[in-house]
Amino acid sequence: MTTVTTLADLQRESWQLTAHCQGRNCGSARRMNLAALIARFGPDHVFINDQKIPPLLVCRRCGHRGGSLTINV
Ligand SMILES: [Zn+2]
Repeated sequence: MTTVTTLADLQRESWQLTAHCQGRNCGSARRMNLAALIARFGPDHVFINDQKIPPLLVCRRCGHRGGSLTINV
């Protein structure tokens, strides 16, 4: 079984991260740029229960700061 815990693991498995806006009545979602995340946080960054990336997410639709991440296999 493959263990996927870091950004590099996601890239290796060709999985995608999707960011979901937590703003009221928004529900906007967009795919994260994995290469950009790796460039910023490093390939060994663990995204499970991550407390670094979600607070930095800013919604392009409503401007809400803070989101949640889900994986698309
Ligand atoms: Zn939003």
